[in-house]
Amino acid sequence: KTVAVTGGSGYIASWIIKFLLEKGYTVKASVRYPDDPKKANHLFALDGAKERLKLIKADLLEEGSFDALVEGCEGVFHTASPFFLETNNPQDDLLDPALKGTLNVLNSVKKTPSVKRVVLTSSEAAVSFNGKPRTPEVVVDETWFSDPDFCRENKLWYVLSKTAAENAAWKFAKENNIDLVVMNPALVLGPLLQPTLNTSSAVILNLINGAETYANVSVGCVNVKDVAKAHILAFENPSASGRYVMVERVAHYSEIVEILRKLYPTLKLPEKCDSEPPLPIYQVSKDKIRSLGIELTPLEVSVKETVESLKEKNFFKAP
Ligand code: NDP
Repeated sequence: KTVAVTGGSGYIASWIIKFLLEKGYTVKASVRYPDDPKKANHLFALDGAKERLKLIKADLLEEGSFDALVEGCEGVFHTASPFFLETNNPQDDLLDPALKGTLNVLNSVKKTPSVKRVVLTSSEAAVSFNGKPRTPEVVVDETWFSDPDFCRENKLWYVLSKTAAENAAWKFAKENNIDLVVMNPALVLGPLLQPTLNTSSAVILNLINGAETYANVSVGCVNVKDVAKAHILAFENPSASGRYVMVERVAHYSEIVEILRKLYPTLKLPEKCDSEPPLPIYQVSKDKIRSLGIELTPLEVSVKETVESLKEKNFFKAP
C-alpha cells in the first residue's frame, strides 16, 4: 500500500514515516528542502527507506504543489503546518500556510480517487481555547472546539492557525465527500529522529538549560510515538472517525520541573514560577483515543526520553 505524508522532515512526521515503513508501506513524503541533509538524511536512514521511501518537494503556499505527492496513494497524512509561537507577521508566517496549505492538500486529494482517507494532524490547540474555564474538575473532550474570536482577541496566533485549518478541513471534507479523521495531540514529547530542534522539544530544553524561572503554564502532554501510532491506526481502522484528543496528562510546568528533578537530581533546574497564582490544571478525556487501541505513555517516560534524546543530539550537555 502506498501512502503520503506531508511535512515529512518534521518531528511527528518522521515518526509516522518510521512506523509506516516498519509496517511495510510504501511512503511518499513531501519536504520543502529535499536537498538539505538536515531535512532528509534522517529519513533515508530509516529501515526500509531505501526501498520504499520517496521524497517529493512541495510547499504549503503553492497551489497544486501536492498533486504529485498524493497521486496513487490510498492514505494521506497531512502533518505539515508551521509550529512556532513568536512572529511579527502571523498572517504570512502562521495563518496562511496552515489554512491555505490544508486546503491545497485537500484540493489535491479531491482530484485523486485512489485516496480513501485523510488523517489531519490538528492539535489540542484547536480544542480547548474557547474561554471556558479549565479547572481540575473540568474534563475537556472531542466535543470542545476552540473559538477563533477568542484566539484573535488573545493574539494566540498559532492556536488560531490550527483552529482555522481544522475548521476549514471539516467544511471542505463534507462538501467534497472526503473521509477525514483528525488527531488533536497536545504538547508532544519523546525522542527526536530529526537533527534539528522542534518547538515542543524546546519546551523541555528551556527547562534544563539553566533558566532561573519557569513559565506559569499548564499543558497537556503526550508521547510522539503514541501520536504517530494513532495516526496510522486512524488510517487503518475503518471505524475510526471524527476527532481524537491525545493527552496523557495535563501538568503545570512546576510538575514537569519536579519530574526532571527526580530523574536528574544533579541538574540545575529553575526554582521559581515567573508569575502567580499558578494556572490550574484540567482533565482531558482518554476514552476516544483508547477506543482506537492506544494506551498513552506516562509523562515521566516522555520527559526522560526527550532529555536523553536532547543529550544524544548534543543540544544539551549534562553537568
Ligand atoms: P515540526 O516543526 O517538526 O514540523 C512542522 C512541519 O511542517 C515541518 O516538516 C515543516 O517543514 C512543515 N512546514 C512548515 N511550513 C511549511 C510550508 N510553508 N510548506 C511546507 N511545509 C511546511 O513540528 P511538529 O512535528 O511538532 O508538527 C507537526 C504537526 O503537528 C503540525 O501540524 C503541528 O501543528 C502539529 N502539532 C504539534 C504538536 C507538538 O507539540 N509538537 C502538538 C499538536 C499538534 P520544514 O521541515 O521544511 O520546516
